[in-house]
Amino acid sequence: MYGFNPCPKPRHTLKKKRRLKDIPKDIRRFVYERDNKCCVRCGNPHNLQLHHIITKGRYDPRRYNFKQGVHDPRNLATVCVGCHRKIHDQPEAMLEMLEWQRLRFGEVLKYATE
Ligand SMILES: [Zn+2]
Repeated sequence: MYGFNPCPKPRHTLKKKRRLKDIPKDIRRFVYERDNKCCVRCGNPHNLQLHHIITKGRYDPRRYNFKQGVHDPRNLATVCVGCHRKIHDQPEAMLEMLEWQRLRFGEVLKYATE
């Protein structure tokens, strides 16, 4: 019925490992330093995370001029846990972050720069 499996690996640990590897460490450190280790929305220095402004699901290398792909520092913002949740819950908070990105780094869409 079941094949012999001497050491089954639970799926979630594999997934977790890949998630941690997502943003390269040096980029992580660079973005935290750039944002003065504070949330860019509310200034909170605690419980910080990195937010992908263009989410991985929506990122398309043909549309955006990020040299380092979806993990490009220009596509990342330091935010606290509370703001991060808000950004993903509220469409207007998401738009706010897109505006923040545009003001801070300029136009990120390809067609606008060419
Ligand atoms: Zn915050």
